[in-house]
Amino acid sequence: MIWNKSRECMSRDELANLQGGYLVKLVKYMYQNVAYYRKKMQKLGMEPGDICGIEDLGKLPFTTKEDLISAYPSGIFVVPQKRIARYHSSDNLTGPDRIVGYTKKDIDNWSECVARSISMANLGKKDVIQIMYNYAPFSEGLGAHYGAERVGAAIVPSGIGRTSGLAALMKKLHVTGIMGTPTYLLRLAHIVEEQGLKSGLNLKAVLCGAEPWTENTRRKIQDKLGVKAYDMYGLNELTGLGVACECEFQRGMHIQEDFFLTEILDTHTLAVLPDGLKGELVFTTLQKEGLPLIRYRTTHVTRIHYEKCECGRTMARIDRICKATSELLMICGKGVFITQIEEALVGLHFVATSYMVCIKKEKELDVVKVSMNYSADKPLSTEEKDAMLQQAEKALSSVIGVIPEISFAKNKRGIFSDNDKKVVVIDERM
Ligand SMILES: [Zn+2]
Repeated sequence: MIWNKSRECMSRDELANLQGGYLVKLVKYMYQNVAYYRKKMQKLGMEPGDICGIEDLGKLPFTTKEDLISAYPSGIFVVPQKRIARYHSSDNLTGPDRIVGYTKKDIDNWSECVARSISMANLGKKDVIQIMYNYAPFSEGLGAHYGAERVGAAIVPSGIGRTSGLAALMKKLHVTGIMGTPTYLLRLAHIVEEQGLKSGLNLKAVLCGAEPWTENTRRKIQDKLGVKAYDMYGLNELTGLGVACECEFQRGMHIQEDFFLTEILDTHTLAVLPDGLKGELVFTTLQKEGLPLIRYRTTHVTRIHYEKCECGRTMARIDRICKATSELLMICGKGVFITQIEEALVGLHFVATSYMVCIKKEKELDVVKVSMNYSADKPLSTEEKDAMLQQAEKALSSVIGVIPEISFAKNKRGIFSDNDKKVVVIDERM
């Protein structure tokens, strides 16, 4: 099912013309309204007139997460506050640098992207779609909700809760589609299997997004639920879920290229890589109003391919996102910067300068294990150590959203020398 054939199946030449027109307008808009980006262009001796189409994209400077953080708040929103219709955050709205804003038009375009994604999974107006994402303050819940509403489906906005209860609700309401994180859907799939509900369900497809997952997890979800599980990609800064999604052939995620101009970058040389090579995903938002971005480095790694898909869509596809290049970790669907972990632990007076954080998958759930040193002049009693561990656990869980397993390094001298990096993170899920 193709939601918007005139866009999703347009010829590559037509698409390039369309993108070029948007890009020229965008560069002018950014130059006039966004100080941090104007400065970047001026530093390179550039003016908006230097950009005549997508062939000039490579002349433009990149935007990074750090640019947004340093320009926040007034510097990133291009429109006056009264035109911002909604804010979302990848945090609990406590880290202002992670807040993004949308105009009414942005929300409308975002709904279009999600509607296209839902249609790729062959779900539509006759379906009952259960949204198993947190609704606030993250973008996933409402993003999925508005897309499902756009296709005319009946929506069950259940959020996340007691998994067993949700499985029963699916049966009761004849749910045909689910949108949720792969971790959560896998948990649900286990419950469905345990309770023998599979044959009684009306499920047709599930869409998984908002965190990295593996083919192995996909297989398990598909086997246990008996339907296809579609990979869906998005990033708060770009718009949220719906930037790209798999079609029924499940050979890469189609990017909504009339909204997002895509490049793959060699992270060492910063050169744009030829098609088919793996590198950092870089996006330019072609139609965003509230928070437009030019050549935004996502820190996500994948490859892009342009050949026409069997489904008839001409939009390019990206492979599964395999790892983040920067220090942003996804833990149970939540984005956590390594610096946040560092800040939480540094705030505790007894924690020494270095610690190791290891993230694993255990029974399909993300588990965070921390090994750290303590600084104390005298030997500590077991009670004192336990109290420290409890304090560290509390500080860290408020940041990462799950309760970590924390221990002290076995030898007093610790796990690292003083010259080592303060935080070592090992992500064993990749
Ligand atoms: Zn396709």
